[in-house]
Amino acid sequence: MDYVSTRNNSESLKFKDIFIKGLADDGGLFLPKSLHKYNQSDLLEFKKLEYNELAKKIIYPFIGDFMSENDLSRIIDKSYSVFRKKNVVNLVEIGDRSILELFHGPTLAFKDIAMQLLGNFYDYYLNNENEKINIVVATSGDTGAAAIDAIKGKKNVNIFVLHPNNRISPIQRRLMTTGKDNNVFNIAIEGNFDDCQNLVKAMFADKTFSSDIKMSGVNSINWARIIAQCVYYFYCFSLIEDNKAPVNFSVPTGNFGDVYAGYLAKKIGLPINKFIVATNQNDILYRAITKGDYHVEDVLETISPSMDIQIASNFERLIYDLNDQNDLRTADVMKNIKEKGKYEINKENLDKINLNFLSSRLDENEVLNVIKTIYQKFDIVLDPHSAIGYGAFDKVNIKGNNIVLATAHPCKFPEAIEKAINLKVELPKEIAFVLNEKENYDIVENNLNSIKQHIKERV
Ligand SMILES: *Cc1c(COP(=O)(O)O)cnc(C)c1O
Repeated sequence: MDYVSTRNNSESLKFKDIFIKGLADDGGLFLPKSLHKYNQSDLLEFKKLEYNELAKKIIYPFIGDFMSENDLSRIIDKSYSVFRKKNVVNLVEIGDRSILELFHGPTLAFKDIAMQLLGNFYDYYLNNENEKINIVVATSGDTGAAAIDAIKGKKNVNIFVLHPNNRISPIQRRLMTTGKDNNVFNIAIEGNFDDCQNLVKAMFADKTFSSDIKMSGVNSINWARIIAQCVYYFYCFSLIEDNKAPVNFSVPTGNFGDVYAGYLAKKIGLPINKFIVATNQNDILYRAITKGDYHVEDVLETISPSMDIQIASNFERLIYDLNDQNDLRTADVMKNIKEKGKYEINKENLDKINLNFLSSRLDENEVLNVIKTIYQKFDIVLDPHSAIGYGAFDKVNIKGNNIVLATAHPCKFPEAIEKAINLKVELPKEIAFVLNEKENYDIVENNLNSIKQHIKERV
């Protein structure tokens, strides 16, 4: 499969290049030039498959020139052997909808599903290429832990994770900082998540620095993450008994990565009706999808911190489709967003968006109320992100097989759960040890030269 950038589609690249690069040199995001599509009889075959077998079928066409089918098979089995569910995910009925639990991986968030695979892709790449790579990533909590777990102890790769000092939950921090592997470096930046993200972006943009340290990224724009996430939409579809009724997914959204993976599933043949883009008070995507107003505001801190984002990076991939896959027009829109902080979506494009996407927004009280109601009615505790996905369906009033993606385990957000239902959620026993281990991280000022220096001394 050939890949192109959303901002220049005349030059083709292979999966191996786009995987290591993450972001195109022109600042655009990578997309396949054409897609391998599935039909009704393929979907019937998929219904018979266990999660891993299905993952192999879906992922292989995207990466066929990177590794053989046998290597991929081995890597997928290895990646998902660390999950607490045999079939990686779990579908549970709650009232008139179902939730797809995606948090049974090592760090209790859906990001493990893609990240475990990425870790083993790096391993495979580095064994064959004989080089050393330094991954640098910013996190508001979940990405960092998932990335560290996937990379720790691997040869020829270091990982540097920047988190905002004192602004992530202690459990989230402990999941990152209590490991003992000497290829993992945690850095608490004296600033907020945007500051961390900007430092990482600036280091990538500094070509001398980034090529010096062979810098690579695992943030949510990495195409490998999208294809790994695409699989659970197919798997979930296979689990649904009544597949006559339309299937709708509500997806708690920050960077538009997870919901884009669902849209990709639809593009390659999975008959999904609508995606509900569920947001917290950081509602740029809600404004965009309901009113055509994509306009960046200040980030607010909420009880669903993994969705406290204003620039939804993966949205560029949808913008590319809205502009009939015209790279120059996409580049123009992105330039405007960067310079003026906004993109006004015209009526025609808004109609196109609404064919696939609806959106709801929940404020902090609404989130607490969903957690409380679900607990009282069904004795199930949802984490704040998943609660946003659940509540989003109440606001769009759509019939069918309604499925909520549950993106994190509630124990990662004990303060919010306690506030909502006055309950202490325990950590799964496999993970509880992080509460007693010694933590390891350095505090660095919010300054580009200081962070570069810090990293250089350690590569
Ligand atoms: C990262 C994250 C999200 C948002 O996912 P995107 O792909 O950025 O839209 C939602 N919930 C949780 C728990 C997360 O960690």
